[in-house]
Amino acid sequence: MRLVLFGPPGAGKGTQSERIVARYNIVPLSTGDLLRVAVAAGAPLGLRVKDIIARGELVPDEVVVALIAERIDAPEAKNGFILDGFPRTVKQAEELDALLAGRNLKLDAVVELKVDETILIERIERRIEETRAKGHAVRADDDASVLKQRIAHYRKQTVPLSDYYRRKGLLLVVDGMQSIDRVEAEIEQALSERVSVGG
Ligand code: AMP
Repeated sequence: MRLVLFGPPGAGKGTQSERIVARYNIVPLSTGDLLRVAVAAGAPLGLRVKDIIARGELVPDEVVVALIAERIDAPEAKNGFILDGFPRTVKQAEELDALLAGRNLKLDAVVELKVDETILIERIERRIEETRAKGHAVRADDDASVLKQRIAHYRKQTVPLSDYYRRKGLLLVVDGMQSIDRVEAEIEQALSERVSVGG
């Protein structure tokens, strides 16, 4: 199973991705997580992208495409993967298509989580509080003003993915405003219909 999951920041992509991964025995590929690991490790790549991420801007395409290509080629991804945070633009979606075509692979489905934007700020603020309460470090980009910037980027650059994948017959839209379990059940239902129809 090869999937893309997209939705605005704070839509619950990480949580849903974890559940899908467990169910289908596939690997999660989150460009945000991979980039944060590189930043934390002080790797050259991390130094290059640290400030960009902290400002809530997008890192260059070639950086994320290379990260994804490497992970897709790894043996762990043989059974499939779920991309979370990539592609984020139509240009990245086209690059992903080319990357997969070159490996004779195809996406099975693309799940869009729809969330009311005003709720997102509340969710992020809650995430910051919970993270602090656990004594963990808060992500540099978990901040209301940075979030607004990220939502603006999302609206302008990522929302066009809906049309892109709808035209390809891959898009499944799920209401992300429901409980985590309900969202999971709807994704599950949509995917099982897709797999039985698509074979
Ligand atoms: P995320 O965890 O997906 O919200 O990503 C956190 C940050 O990493 C983003 O705000 C961007 O700065 C960067 N990033 C993650 N994925 C991408 C991508 N596909 N293209 C460009 N930048 C990305």
